[in-house]
Amino acid sequence: EKYVYRFGKLHTDGDKSMKMLLGGKGANLAEMSTIGIPVPPGFTISTEACQKTVNNQMSWPETLDKQIEDGVRHIEKEMGLKLGDRKDPLLISVRSGAAVSMPGMMDTILNLGINDRVVEALIAKTGNERFAYDSYRRFIDMFGDVVMGVSHEYFEEAIEKLKKEVGVEQDIDLTAEQLRELTDRYKAIYRKVTGHMFPDDPMEQLKFAVNAVFNSWNSARAIKYRQISNIHGLIGTAVNVQAMVFGNMGEKSGTGVCFTRNPATGEHKLYGEFLLNAQGEDVVAGIRTPSDIDELERLNPDIFNELLGYTHKLEAHYKNMQDIEFTIQEGTLYILQTRNGKRTGTAALKIAVNMVDEGLLPKEEAIRDLVEPGHIEQLLHPQFKEDALNGSTILGKGLPASPGAAVGKVVFDSKRAEEAEEKGDPVILVRIETSPEDVGGMSSAEGILTSRGGMTSHAAVVARGWGKPCVAGCSDIVINYKARSFTNGDVTIKEGDWISLNGNTGEVLKGKKELTNPEFGKEYRRFMNWVGEIEDMQVRANAETPEDAETARSYGAKGIGLARTEHMFFKPGRVKFMRKMIIANNEVERRAALAKLLPFQKQDFIEIFEVMEGLPVTIRLLDPPLHEFLPQEEDEIKEVAEELEVSTEVLKDKINLLKEFNPMLGHRGCRLGITYPEITEMQTRAIIEAVIELKKSGKTALPEIMIPLVSSMEEFRNQRKVVDDTAKAVLKEFGETADYKIGTMIEIPRAAILADQIAEEADFFSFGTNDLTQLTFGFSRDDAVKFLPIYMAKGIIKQDPFQVLDEEGVGQFVQAGTRLGRMTNPNLKIGICGEHGGDPDSVNFAYQTGLNYVSCSPFRVPVAHLASAQAVL
Ligand code: ADP
Ligand code: MG
Ligand code: MG
Repeated sequence: EKYVYRFGKLHTDGDKSMKMLLGGKGANLAEMSTIGIPVPPGFTISTEACQKTVNNQMSWPETLDKQIEDGVRHIEKEMGLKLGDRKDPLLISVRSGAAVSMPGMMDTILNLGINDRVVEALIAKTGNERFAYDSYRRFIDMFGDVVMGVSHEYFEEAIEKLKKEVGVEQDIDLTAEQLRELTDRYKAIYRKVTGHMFPDDPMEQLKFAVNAVFNSWNSARAIKYRQISNIHGLIGTAVNVQAMVFGNMGEKSGTGVCFTRNPATGEHKLYGEFLLNAQGEDVVAGIRTPSDIDELERLNPDIFNELLGYTHKLEAHYKNMQDIEFTIQEGTLYILQTRNGKRTGTAALKIAVNMVDEGLLPKEEAIRDLVEPGHIEQLLHPQFKEDALNGSTILGKGLPASPGAAVGKVVFDSKRAEEAEEKGDPVILVRIETSPEDVGGMSSAEGILTSRGGMTSHAAVVARGWGKPCVAGCSDIVINYKARSFTNGDVTIKEGDWISLNGNTGEVLKGKKELTNPEFGKEYRRFMNWVGEIEDMQVRANAETPEDAETARSYGAKGIGLARTEHMFFKPGRVKFMRKMIIANNEVERRAALAKLLPFQKQDFIEIFEVMEGLPVTIRLLDPPLHEFLPQEEDEIKEVAEELEVSTEVLKDKINLLKEFNPMLGHRGCRLGITYPEITEMQTRAIIEAVIELKKSGKTALPEIMIPLVSSMEEFRNQRKVVDDTAKAVLKEFGETADYKIGTMIEIPRAAILADQIAEEADFFSFGTNDLTQLTFGFSRDDAVKFLPIYMAKGIIKQDPFQVLDEEGVGQFVQAGTRLGRMTNPNLKIGICGEHGGDPDSVNFAYQTGLNYVSCSPFRVPVAHLASAQAVL
């Protein structure tokens, strides 16, 4: 079996389509090698090798040993160097890389292959003793940390101590002699902590390193990152072994990262940072402040232009904005990585629209590949009110690393951020810099503030990926972890104090600033128009107020898929009559109370129909158990009793009578209308009278009356008759005609598998996937919080089925209901309402199942539009 895939000038075995097997980094290194990008040669050990090794107590599959040796021979041949050689030694890097990028999550080791003899050879060959020892000490540090778990901090302490001793500030000010001394001290640390000598056989070093990378796949932080980012279905990480090129050879060398376009704004201009005389993660580690990429144009225009050329080539090749890592070794440029760059929602839209305009790719591909539903969602996030920032105390200004507005209470560590989230407290995570250990807290926080690090620092990259506001490298503030405070010299902010972050400008403000809804730019509108041309399944909204309906319509909803009438009864002034209706002793009293509710209900419908003029509005008849409308607390009961003009005792008796052991399975849904048909009558009358009212002013209302919680054809038939008879009677009374439809929710498994019977009488179905999920799993949605998180942590279920439709189980009921329903009623209109209507995967499922529409909350409508179009492509 093949585990090792070469890349280089002479032989390349992989390509960009092989991400699952070679990881993103490996697949792209191979691709770049074949399209003429200068990539140091190397080979990739497949994710399968990782999986087999991890599953087999870390023993390698049969031929891996030999294949890796051949791989090393391949690099040696391309480079004309030899691993461990005393004259022309080859140094290599060992780099992790899974199919999905996980910034900084797993480990990289540079300069592997050095030992006491090799370092002499490097000095003899380059005449650069400083470089040789700089590489050596870095190797011991990384190898110790990654392979043997010798904390990087020990090495940091040692270098700090040495710098103090010799009186220099920066790592680069250390002389060759001092770096040699540091190398010895590092070796001593290694020996002390591990109890072993530093291994000097390069092949042995390599084996250890490969295993360490394999192991890092299952490190706690990597597992956590995958959990938070919802990454499933990957088998392991690939390992890339590659010839080293050196950015630490002096002032003509350096290393950097760049984006082909601005990842925060989308502006079409090379964007990035670099450091001279540096290696690897120096740029992102925040040890030295990197220079802006524009600076490289001034320092070395030839190299800059060469880099620019490659960025254009890569962008055109991948048809996507690229995030590129490069190294310059004594005036020669090498590209070490490319991948599709993470970007903000604003940037995603601008890049997509610009790339289509530039002719780089057609609209369809831009919709499919360049904008994710999460990007659209980000744009719907609040911003600061224009005047909210007037007269604010600005605590400092850092880099606008990830846009958006965030307000929260300051916390200084990730653990507290996670605790706060559990309590529902909004927090801002404030750190000197973040590391992969912090991802839990970063995910819990509303926003992230760091005092060190650039636009490509860990905090910035992760925050942009998640669409979380971030201000990075705010050097105006000094953070004191011990005192749990930070200060800008004038003002001191303590843990728990409110601050506001403006990720668009980099400003950090004191206090809790007011937020407002976002505005959409012209790129958004153009893009969403393209989406509209492609999508083939309607998006409707769940809305029951004119305001929500307005929002939904402005976001392009093609109707209302679910108007819950019970919400209308909770409004002040009405709930009293609702309660009167509920505590009525007989039909006469009940009808009297309902008669009072009628005008309210009618007015509600008039307002909604007006906003949704010409579009269908699905109205669900009363659904929840009635006890939900009654007071529970002692003093409230007293108050309500007075209002209803009954004694407290009478009301209490009524409340007790209505108590149910399991209200969600109790007297609710169509069961209410069947036992009290006058409720259905009143609601129908309100709907039809509203339609007539609109008709008077020349407007069309298209009501779709929906019977909830049906489990049999007989139930539906019963309620359909009440609705139909009432509607006809009202129309006759007014001498009018009107179109209306009568349908049902399919939310009980029994209804789904008897859908053929129900469909004979129904005009439409709407899958109520919330209840359907609840009843299919037998999980109470309100109680599942007690065990769902544990189920997910233990891998018993992958995702919360109340958020992402469980295609395997619940999905079967949706498919069966659709198939059976259309069998007896080919014209049946079918949709989905419930939380799932706005979840991209569930939208895709709905499209594949052949539904006519999805319905979701107004703010999810644009997301559902994009997901609906992507389902087509
Ligand atoms: P990550 O996945 O965390 O970005 P990488 O494998 O890309 O880790 O390695 C981090 C950095 O190490 C790279 O950006 C590059 O600067 C440096 N590096 C890796 N391999 C080499 C190499 N062969 N030669 C020079 N530098 C390298
Ligand atoms: Mg790494
Ligand atoms: Mg990298």
